[in-house]
Amino acid sequence: MTKRVPLIAGNWKMFHGGRTGCDLAIDIMRGLRSADLPAGTADVVMAPPFTALAAVAATVEEARAGLKLSVEISAQNFHAKAEGAFTGEVSAPMLLDAGCKWVIIGHSERRQLFGETDAGVAEKTKAALDAGLRPIVCVGETLEEREGGKTLEVVERQVGAFAKLLLADVGVGAIAYEPVWAIGTGRVAGPEQAQEVHAAIRSQLAGISQELASGTRLLYGGSVKPDNAAGLLACEDVDGALVGGASLKAESFLGILRAL
Ligand code: PEP
Repeated sequence: MTKRVPLIAGNWKMFHGGRTGCDLAIDIMRGLRSADLPAGTADVVMAPPFTALAAVAATVEEARAGLKLSVEISAQNFHAKAEGAFTGEVSAPMLLDAGCKWVIIGHSERRQLFGETDAGVAEKTKAALDAGLRPIVCVGETLEEREGGKTLEVVERQVGAFAKLLLADVGVGAIAYEPVWAIGTGRVAGPEQAQEVHAAIRSQLAGISQELASGTRLLYGGSVKPDNAAGLLACEDVDGALVGGASLKAESFLGILRAL
């Protein structure tokens, strides 16, 4: 099986959109340097708000020398069209210009609060890959769906909407399983719950292509903290974490990396 380097991505949501974003990035880079984690321990991604993307990307670039880990910048969303009359929107070429390498697609907050659909998520996944941005595509069930025994059905439908698109460049994209009931709530899926869904996603990908299954990183997200990260990251099919609240402070984000 292909060795998958763990990916730890911090989703800053609508926080740290200015100077404090650069300060946070500096603190994370400093912490990574002093932790001196060997190459291949993890790939690190930070996803600031749009307003801080270029500044954080430049900050990371300046602080990169000598670091053994890859540290890259992600956006949290984008518009699938490259340009046009879409007031208030930001496109993939603009993100690349700002120093982004990744983009989060279909986060549950976007699905729930901004009406994003499976079809829209697929459209963005294709647009990101076509433009050369690496997608982290989010899926996950609500509490009601979990309690109704529909978790695997919902996740399979969400993954099915975009999975074949990842064949365009296997390993470039990642999938984040984020149970909606665990996001920002402090309720975390136990390692067995996370592993069950990750294994189901992996086998769904294997149904498309074995290479896709073994080459795609599956991240867990939902109240990941330094004290629960080790158990989750030890699961066979968990290849990293998408971290919200705990990515807003260098110490807790670094604590998750140290749990690897
Ligand atoms: C997220 O926003 O993707 C997330 C997982 O948030 P939190 O870690 O705060 O639950």
